[in-house]
Amino acid sequence: MEIAYSIPKSELHLHLDGSLDTGFIAACAANRGIELPVEPADVREYLHDLKSKRSHIASKVSGSSNWSNFDFCNQFLQTTDELREATFSLCETLIADNVVLAEIRFCPELHTNEDLTVNDAVDAVVSGFREAEQTLNMRGGVIVCALRSYPVEHTLEMVELASAWLGQGVIGFDIAGDEGAFALDIHASGIKEALRRNVPMTLHAGEWPEDTVKNIKLAVDLGADRIGHGVTLCQDPKLMKLVAEKGITVECCLTSNVGWKVPSYGVHPIRNMFEAGVKVCINSDNLLLSGTFDRAAYSSGEVQRLVDDVGFSWEQARQVLLNGVKGSFSAGVDEDWISQYEQRLDEILP
Ligand SMILES: [Zn+2]
Repeated sequence: MEIAYSIPKSELHLHLDGSLDTGFIAACAANRGIELPVEPADVREYLHDLKSKRSHIASKVSGSSNWSNFDFCNQFLQTTDELREATFSLCETLIADNVVLAEIRFCPELHTNEDLTVNDAVDAVVSGFREAEQTLNMRGGVIVCALRSYPVEHTLEMVELASAWLGQGVIGFDIAGDEGAFALDIHASGIKEALRRNVPMTLHAGEWPEDTVKNIKLAVDLGADRIGHGVTLCQDPKLMKLVAEKGITVECCLTSNVGWKVPSYGVHPIRNMFEAGVKVCINSDNLLLSGTFDRAAYSSGEVQRLVDDVGFSWEQARQVLLNGVKGSFSAGVDEDWISQYEQRLDEILP
């Protein structure tokens, strides 16, 4: 664990609302006069308990047991201060785990339940991230997500927003949400608009275990720079070869996938993708909500699991780590920075 902790890491796939610290939740709840259902120290256990109770009724095609947990978290992300502090505090947590590059994603629309506009929401998250750049030396930026359960007009609005903020804290665009019930083609015109506006694009695709290869194919056809999850890519070797040839980075999220999406770490398709030459990297997805109560997702834990449970050598893990930084959308991650990063890896890795 010493090595996994010490090496500098990246997080290209991390949701703000799913990664809140329970101390932050407790402080916001107190400010808002909201009584938490359990003691602050037990919030994580409470949420994972709810998730596991719901999981047996969630179907592999359309279900997810996690959505109302995101709603629970989003009630504490409705003001400028809350969004800014949540972003900065997440960066503090990451830096403490030696994450030196973070791309934090969120859907601005989910933060307009009170007085904020979508633009205010982006402003707040960007300013939290800027503070982390200045005081913690964090690299990376903010990715604006659209939600696939919303109509395409929403996607177009999120693309426009990402485009307006591009180069000013926002570095990319994503489509997230329930892939089982909402195929990616619903949002094709939004994706084309992101491409037309030159907004770097990562799309959640192939995360749900059934009938989602078509979403990866569409993402590739429409010019996505990165794919989020891509668990089902190995079901289509031709497409996997194409993803490798195009140099598309696949943001794997091991702990997040283990459960109903992938039976165990040992059979996670990151192995197939890596062997096919796909640029895979590893990510936590959600520090609070991914995995189970006993099996949290966090950056050094993901590296350790890649080696211990998936069975990658440290040399292979080095390539995966390097894929992460090379896949970044951030202009701050240039050739010099990457070569310094490589040097730091080589100093620490066995
Ligand atoms: Zn995700």
